[in-house]
Amino acid sequence: MRDTAVQDYWQNYVDGEWVDGGAGRIGVVDPATGEKLAEQALADAADVDRAVSVARRVHESGVLFDLRPVERGRMVQAMGRYLLANIDEIARLLTLEQGKPLWESRIEIEGAARYFEYYGNQAETVEGRSIPLGAGYFDFTTHEPYGVSAHIIPWNYPLEMTARSLSAALATGNACVIKTPELTPLTNAYIARAAEAAGVPTGAVNVICGLGRDAGAALSAHPGVNQIVFTGSVPTGIAIATAAARNVVPCVLELGGKSAAIVHDDADLDAFMSDVRWGIYFNAGQVCSAMSRVIASERIHDELVDRIAGIAKSLSVGPGIDQAEIGPTMGAMVSEAQRDRAEGMVRSAEAEGATVATGGRKLNRAGAFMEPTVLTSVTPNMAIARDEVFGPVLSVLKFRTDEEAIQIANSTDYGLVGGVFTRDLDRATRAARRMRAGQVFVNEWYAGGVETPFGGYGKSGYGREKGREALWNYVQTKNVAIRLRG
Ligand code: NAD
Repeated sequence: MRDTAVQDYWQNYVDGEWVDGGAGRIGVVDPATGEKLAEQALADAADVDRAVSVARRVHESGVLFDLRPVERGRMVQAMGRYLLANIDEIARLLTLEQGKPLWESRIEIEGAARYFEYYGNQAETVEGRSIPLGAGYFDFTTHEPYGVSAHIIPWNYPLEMTARSLSAALATGNACVIKTPELTPLTNAYIARAAEAAGVPTGAVNVICGLGRDAGAALSAHPGVNQIVFTGSVPTGIAIATAAARNVVPCVLELGGKSAAIVHDDADLDAFMSDVRWGIYFNAGQVCSAMSRVIASERIHDELVDRIAGIAKSLSVGPGIDQAEIGPTMGAMVSEAQRDRAEGMVRSAEAEGATVATGGRKLNRAGAFMEPTVLTSVTPNMAIARDEVFGPVLSVLKFRTDEEAIQIANSTDYGLVGGVFTRDLDRATRAARRMRAGQVFVNEWYAGGVETPFGGYGKSGYGREKGREALWNYVQTKNVAIRLRG
């Protein structure tokens, strides 16, 4: 049955107006029921062209970049406050379109607002420097926005991922076109509403949904785009980077991972249980930096597996809309296709010799539900140890020596994050130096925040989001050298 509280049809937002899409509409499905929730306008290449032209006009007018940075920063912060003011409404919609528990949706919205707060604050900090060239010259650098910034958004955290890149792009004075994910496009309408409410110049934020191969490809190949940010799969990242290269524009790629936690025999295993709960079962494992592998010392392996399986079994799985309170609950995956893919990867792992310690199957009910899963007897050469599942599936591998643990951790093509759990700081520091990952957590998975830079080594992508590092994605440096006469 259709949720009557959700409006039937959602339009795209271009140049301050809500518009239909040239490619018609797409049905958005509630993954907890498998039923249609609403329809979303679908942009075609002509719509993309218009959105890019609008953003270019805004950029060239100077209406954003000519502002004193504090003014831009205040607008960016106001966008976050708008999201918080509407958190109940947005959380409900996010849960209905994405499947996550209602309490997780609230965390996502708070996270989105935090990006607007942080980068709003940073707007004033993008300063150049003066370079001494001797008495005859005055030389200085400035940082200017690229111009039109394109954001191609994944379906796992649709609101937060848009907030992450948009906040920094606007704070530095770029006009933006956002291509929302076709599975979860609806909550991004609140990004447009937030921009409007915050007084962001008309046309500086454009939000369009379209198919990846269609609108996404058109946006990434558009000659009017000056910079691209993408989060999603490796093949799509390669397609986008190729399109960007043809236009000689930079891109930031955030492409997921197969991130490992090394757990030594002196680790605090009680504390580690919380890392497991959040690391692999938050958002039903559909997190690029999920803890999808545990590399356990053979001395504690069996005990650890028992305890991890206990955590997995303690989670109750069901419709996110019924899960208002923070607790041991997990919602639907984003779609039945993603759930079936995850389940298929578990079956293949079994065929390769892995053992299901718990879970491993879809739930016997309507909706894209999957049991929280733990696999053991996994070895580094198996596909399940190398490929991203993007679901609630944890693989446990065993090590004997510290050296072997590092080798296993570094044995995938990815390199997004990693973790090491031990009471021995020397051991932790050695591991942190040697792990091939953009971020290493010691004794707490997800330690850090909006303030700490995030991004991949290897096939996990390049460029950094979050932290002050991310600001440099959106600006180019200009040097001005003045010859002084007389
Ligand atoms: P995807 O990479 O295909 O899609 C992500 C975004 O890219 C969407 O907005 C999509 O419309 C767009 N897109 C798709 N093809 C495009 C193209 N040719 N040009 C430009 N844009 C294009 O991801 P998916 O198909 O939704 O999911 C597949 C897998 O990707 C998942 O199983 C998971 O492993 C991975 N994934 C990773 C993340 C992450 O945060 N790292 C997020 C989502 C998906």
